Parts: sequence; C-alpha cells; structure tokens
Amino acid sequence: MSADIQRLNQRLAIAQPSATYRIIDSVAERRAKGAKIISLCAGEPDFDTPAHVRKAAIQAIEHGHTRYTQVAGVRSLREAVAAKFQRENALDVSWQDTLVCSGGKQVIYNALAATLNEGDQVIVPAPYWVSYPEMVQLCGGESRIVTCDADTGFKLTPAALAAAITPRTRWLILNSPSNPTGAVYSRDELHALAEVLLANPHVLILADDIYEHLIFDDQTFFTLAQVEPRLAARTLTMNGVSKAYAMTGWRIGFATGPRWLLDAMEKLQGQQTSGASSVSQQAALAALEGPKDFIQHSRAVFQKRRDRLVEQLNAIDGLECASPAGAFYVFAKCAGLIGRTSAAGRVLHTDEDVAHALLDEANVAVVPGSAFGLAPYLRIAYALDDASLMGACEAIRGFCNALE
Ligand code: PLP
Repeated sequence: MSADIQRLNQRLAIAQPSATYRIIDSVAERRAKGAKIISLCAGEPDFDTPAHVRKAAIQAIEHGHTRYTQVAGVRSLREAVAAKFQRENALDVSWQDTLVCSGGKQVIYNALAATLNEGDQVIVPAPYWVSYPEMVQLCGGESRIVTCDADTGFKLTPAALAAAITPRTRWLILNSPSNPTGAVYSRDELHALAEVLLANPHVLILADDIYEHLIFDDQTFFTLAQVEPRLAARTLTMNGVSKAYAMTGWRIGFATGPRWLLDAMEKLQGQQTSGASSVSQQAALAALEGPKDFIQHSRAVFQKRRDRLVEQLNAIDGLECASPAGAFYVFAKCAGLIGRTSAAGRVLHTDEDVAHALLDEANVAVVPGSAFGLAPYLRIAYALDDASLMGACEAIRGFCNALE
C-alpha cells in the first residue's frame, strides 16, 4: 500500500476534534467500565422534547413525510421560521428569506464555506464556542481571536472590535447568550457595536442566537439586525430548535439573511446533505407553532439551578464566578487552584490539569476554559438535575479542600 494512502485534506489534518466531545467520549468510556461520573459537560438541555412535538413527528411518519424535501426546507417550516423571526425578533422576513439546515452548526459551516477564501479573516471574540475557529480553519479562513475577559463581562467592546477589523475581515461572529460564558449583549451594547460595523461595510455579521430563549432575570433578548436594521443586509441571523425546545438530536437549525448568501448556502447544501430530515422538519414546525410554556418552564428551572450553582461554587476556595445572564453554563475562574497539588500528587499547572484531575479524582467532568480560548477557567454546564448538581459541587469542594 502506498505510504500516503491515508493522506488527508490538509485543512482537516490540522483541525482539532471538538474538545467537548473528547471529554464526553472519555466520560462514556469510564462509565462503560463502571465509574460513577457526574458530567457537567453537556451542551444540551436535560429535558425531553415536548410531548406535542414528539407526537407531531410520529404523525409525520404516519402521514408519509418520509421523503426528500426541498433543499432549503419545506415551505410550511420556512413560513414558521419567517413568522418566528418577525414575532420574536422584529425582523422583516418572508419565507423566501429563510434557510433550514441540519442543525445550527450546519448553518454556520455553510455560511463560512460559502464565503471564505484563502486569507479572509473572521473575528471571533473569546471565550468562544469551540467550533468557530475550527470551522473557520476548515473553510480556509483565519480566525482573529479577540480576548474579552471578565472585566468586560466576557463581551466584545466597540474599541476592541474596531481594533480587530482589517481590510481582510470578512465576518464577525457574535454569540449571545454565549457558550461558554452565558454573557448576553444588551440593546445598548449591540448599538455601540453596530456603530463600528456601519463604518466598516465590508464586514458580514453572523449572529448566533441559538440560546435566545435561555435568558434570565426578566431581561429582553435583542439581536443585531433588529437593533440596527441597516445591518440586516449583511447579517446572517442564526437560530434553531436545539436549545429552546430540547431538540438537540433532531438536528434542525435555520437562518435569515441576505438572499445572495442564503442562495449560496443552499447551493452548497444541495451538494452535501440536501434538505434536513423530513420528520425533524415537521417536528420543528410543531415546536415553532405550538405552545410556548415549555420555554418558560425550562428557563425558570435553569435560572434556579444557576442561582444555587453560582452560590455553591463561589463558596469553594479557589473558584470564582459571576452569575451568567443566559444559556446553561457557568464560566468559573480557577486561578486559585493553579500551582497547587492534588490529593493524588498531581501539580495543577493549567485549567486542563484541573479538569483532568477533577475527572480522575472527583469523578466530575467539566471542560477547561482553554478549550474556549480563555484560561484558567472551567465551563460548568448545569443541564442536570438538582441532586446531581449538588453532588458535583460536593465532590468539587472535597477535591479543592484536599489540595496542598
Ligand atoms: N452555537 C452555539 C454557541 C452552540 O453552543 C451550539 C451547540 O452546542 C450550536 C451553535 C449548534 O447547535 P445545533 O447544531 O444543535 O443547532
């Protein structure tokens, strides 16, 4: 066999597998061997998909929604998506201005793959969702990481944005509420960023609103194209049913934006996955058109968990965290643990060391902040029942108290 038969696409060869999936796989391996691990890694709600949505999917199968659909999604779902953007985001959208993909992830990948050329830059505020820089790299672009630390609430400031824009900037990615910090941009903050963007008409904006409905303390969610309609012609507003309706496995995401961009993404998708799953599209339709009490319920549950978790974590010597405004993650600073030695004799040099030691010695799985571009932090997901969450806090406290 030729030595280079396993030669990969160069961009794929240097891409990193998702750090979160790596830890989730390691948890699964340990559990298979009998270990009792509390995983605070999950990027998905722990609730079941609402009953009326599950029922709609079963009916869809019975009624023959089992064939290929249009690449951009079935018209009824695209109409519901347009209605959602009008109703919830005050965006002036008709069904032709929408695209349905196999998850929000595919929306983002399609957008980058359809538009990036060698040397194009994408501004990615850090901490970032792990997939952004990898997708940019896979699509031939360069990420320009802008670190946004705790002083600015982990949010991009207008000055930092202005300093990061170059003639080669193709995209800015904005994620609110944020994975991993839960930070939410207010209307005023978006206005201030919009000022900078209006002065830079060569920049496209990707608004990743996937956690839109997980926003606490009676705040109101705003998205960039709503706050500054003059930016709508170059903003791709992305959303989906994964987080809002506990439908991560159904793989339905959607977007609205300028037609030239949606057309290009559809062209790409037509040679790749074609239309999203026909059954899932019917389920997503039921979610978007059905009752919204599920969203209110899950928001209230997450807010309660957040409050307890933040209180417990801040009581642990060596950890420190602010109360996140949205999503279901706490991004806790672990600087107080760095340089110390665990009960098993490990010196904790980095947040990765902390995460590994917690897994090995306390049977608690978290993701190190370095995976999201800011260290030393731990991302702690609270998409888990109260008893397990409190059990995890106990185990983390025990681990920290035993440090030398
Ligand atoms: N954007 C962010 C910030 C996410 O955290 C995720 C999933 O974890 C996605 C997008 C993709 O969501 P999905 O592909 O499940 O719709």
